[in-house]
Amino acid sequence: MPNLLDPVTRHAAASPARIALRTDTEPWTYADLYDASLRYAGALSAEGLGTGDRVLLVAPSLPEFVVAYMGIQALGGIVVTVNTMSTAAEIEYYLTDSGTRLVIGWHGLGTAVADVARAVGIPHWFLRPGARVDAAQIPVVVDRPATDTAAILYTSGTTGKPKGAQLTVGNLLAAGEIASTVGRATAADRTGTGLPLFHVFGQASVMMSTFTSGGSLSLLGRFTPDGMIDMMRRDDLTMMVGVPTMWNAMLHAAGDADAADFAHLRVAVSGGASLPGEIARSFEARFGCTILEGYGLTETTALGTFNDVDRGGKIGFVGGAVPRLEVDIRDPKGSPCPAGTVGEVYIKGETVMKGYWNRPDATAAAITTDGWFRTGDLGEFDTDNDLRIVDRLKDLIIRGGYNVYPGEVEEVLYQHPDIIEAAVVGVPDDHYGEEVMAVVTRRPGSELTDQEIEAWSREKLSAYKIPRIVRFVDQLPKGATGKILKRDIDRNDPRKAS
Ligand code: ATP
Repeated sequence: MPNLLDPVTRHAAASPARIALRTDTEPWTYADLYDASLRYAGALSAEGLGTGDRVLLVAPSLPEFVVAYMGIQALGGIVVTVNTMSTAAEIEYYLTDSGTRLVIGWHGLGTAVADVARAVGIPHWFLRPGARVDAAQIPVVVDRPATDTAAILYTSGTTGKPKGAQLTVGNLLAAGEIASTVGRATAADRTGTGLPLFHVFGQASVMMSTFTSGGSLSLLGRFTPDGMIDMMRRDDLTMMVGVPTMWNAMLHAAGDADAADFAHLRVAVSGGASLPGEIARSFEARFGCTILEGYGLTETTALGTFNDVDRGGKIGFVGGAVPRLEVDIRDPKGSPCPAGTVGEVYIKGETVMKGYWNRPDATAAAITTDGWFRTGDLGEFDTDNDLRIVDRLKDLIIRGGYNVYPGEVEEVLYQHPDIIEAAVVGVPDDHYGEEVMAVVTRRPGSELTDQEIEAWSREKLSAYKIPRIVRFVDQLPKGATGKILKRDIDRNDPRKAS
């Protein structure tokens, strides 16, 4: 029976001196990671923790995160990974909802998390550099059924409180195997990411995939575009994984860097949100490597579809279903749609979560009785079986009876040389039901006006899609991975006095 630590165990035995993790301090070999994880498991076991116990981990993407995570796995526990930016109220909710028995918080985050744990009456440990612990006895790695929950990751969904997606040992092992296969990752790869490991994208498609292939993973405690570019040079990265806002920020920070500086880079993997074609083209020109887009969700352990490495990226498409998963487009009645018809994306297969923690109703609403997960995203297949994500069902704008897909309007805005970032949302309108609003950040010094944006859009879009309301902001609200959070956008019409 498996354990999530298995890939690390394998490489620690076969090639102990191979580098597993890099940061700006000493690298960690596979043997270091395995030994530290088992020591950590020993300390957890001495605390009385064992199979099925929930342990909440709040830490940035550093090797110590991985040690604590794998220590919990070695013991057969369930790790609850949450955003390091969580508020005290959010932490309290995650703790109580998941029935956490121990909280582990990175020392650099201060005492806020420890204070919440104390108030709720749950023990708290600080995670310190080196992840060193006193472990009287080193336990053996627990064999567990593949259907055991290994991790709980909270996801917001449209309404209500966040729900804990239960990812099993089998889900996460399969995700690592599939992601490394489609990315053609090998032990020679040096992968780097600015993604947080507490989020599914970093955890499954980067961390688990790297450990499956036996390559090394370079981590940034916190993403900055300069930090990422420095890391590409320092570690001669061959692969990078991130979200579109990261590629965009790197393009704007690249200074005089050119493709020749990054000769080892073979592929950048993009996901989490739609990749505007303009960013993809500029990124490939600047950094000299293919950018391939994939699509997935927390509930599908980050996987779903991926562009083929050999064929190269098809701009605007997220590729076909990855091995071991099926992807379908269904109409509102649940019947399959033919190619070229927009419907809801459904996913089935080895990485679909077991269900939401303690939420049988939400689970039943999300997963059909025959195992298809309803993503809440709208998409269509083309005749090559490549998927285009049209938008989220909940972000669709209906203006005067016409459907406006925000992504299509954003794509046009990103082509404007003075626009750095753009998000298009619907706002209530007495006449049309909803009106199209663009929220935009301009290039420093630009005096771009709302009329100019309207005129730019008019050249490229049908009249009903044009953003009639424009709000200029210094920054757009972003989530854990750097993805723009539409639900947090201020939708007040700037033309109306508030
Ligand atoms: P939260 O954690 O706040 O609930 P979330 O709702 O974005 O965030 P995630 O599981 O992080 O949940 O992200 C999954 C969603 O991201 C998908 O449902 C889809 O809307 C979007 N997404 C992922 N990859 C792509 C892509 N390549 N193109 C377009 N959208 C994407």
